[in-house]
Amino acid sequence: MRTENPVLIIGGGPAGLRAAVDLSEMGIEVILVEKRNELGGAPVRWKYKTLAPMMRPTEEVMNPLIEHVEKSELVKVYKNSIVEEAKGNAGNFVIRIKNGLDNRVESLNVSAIIVATGFEHFDARIDPRYGYGKNPNVIGIHELEAMLKSGRVVKHDGQPPERIAFIFCVGSRDRATNPWCCTVCCGVSIKQAIELKEILPDSQIYMIYMDVRTFGLWEKLYWKSMEEYGINYIRGRVSEIYYTGEKLLVKGEDTLVRGPFEVLFDMVVLAVGMEPGQGTKQVAKALDLAINEFGFLEPKHPNIHHDSSKEGIFLAGACVAPMSVEEAIAEGSAAAMQVVKLLHRLAKPIEAR
Ligand code: SF4
Repeated sequence: MRTENPVLIIGGGPAGLRAAVDLSEMGIEVILVEKRNELGGAPVRWKYKTLAPMMRPTEEVMNPLIEHVEKSELVKVYKNSIVEEAKGNAGNFVIRIKNGLDNRVESLNVSAIIVATGFEHFDARIDPRYGYGKNPNVIGIHELEAMLKSGRVVKHDGQPPERIAFIFCVGSRDRATNPWCCTVCCGVSIKQAIELKEILPDSQIYMIYMDVRTFGLWEKLYWKSMEEYGINYIRGRVSEIYYTGEKLLVKGEDTLVRGPFEVLFDMVVLAVGMEPGQGTKQVAKALDLAINEFGFLEPKHPNIHHDSSKEGIFLAGACVAPMSVEEAIAEGSAAAMQVVKLLHRLAKPIEAR
């Protein structure tokens, strides 16, 4: 399909890449703007080893999308760049792209816009209970992913940990930080615990949870972790992590037996949640898009993520709500389809619309 103006996609993560692939495969020109210096979004940035629940290597999912976009003659990629302004209407927006390295600004006309700016992992330094950033050997699930990918999981002294605790719902389901459920960090933590056991079979792993929310097919990871890998579950809340100079003393309350616990671990992994990133906030302002009370972009229709509050601008992926990589990819395709519908409608004579 020929269109006069290309389609702008903001964000080069799973949703944005999928949308770019789908549109270019339909012959539509795409401008893809990514604020970082690489494509792939969080899975590439944080070096995810595998994707739950199938534990498929991340490269198998992301590389074909990245390679298609980088090779396609129909996709022009602007890295290290942001969209700082968009004016106009569906069919003809005038946008300004600013390069963050040399401040060069380019104005372009685009027919439609897909916003796919993704999320940030919760910064656990905000919650002093965990001592993240101060206590050695307290890390986030995103940092453990990179260790798992390297095949080497070690403490700060270079030795492998023997006793490891995962703490669920860090920066999620907590009105002091973020009240929403991240939806994937239970399943990601359990996937990682299984992978840890494969690297360190003699380790003892404890999952300290409020609830285990492994939705859909992800539930099989939960049973597998207990039955095949001997991973232990403690229903409880952590009040403090104290570094003894050698070990991490995790204090809290067991909410099943209703009593306090204090357990020593070598490493603590925080299941940090997902929250709207600076990129989403910047785009919401630049494009004058509605955001909800949590800072995620607000779709026009509740529960349907594709239409934004403005005609011709569509939303996809975790800039709207926490979600898995596979869901973000599906949303990228769905947003691309909404763009095609719009372009078809705009191509018709006015009296036929
Ligand atoms: Fe907590 Fe699990 Fe929801 Fe993450 S997915 S916020 S760990 S209940």
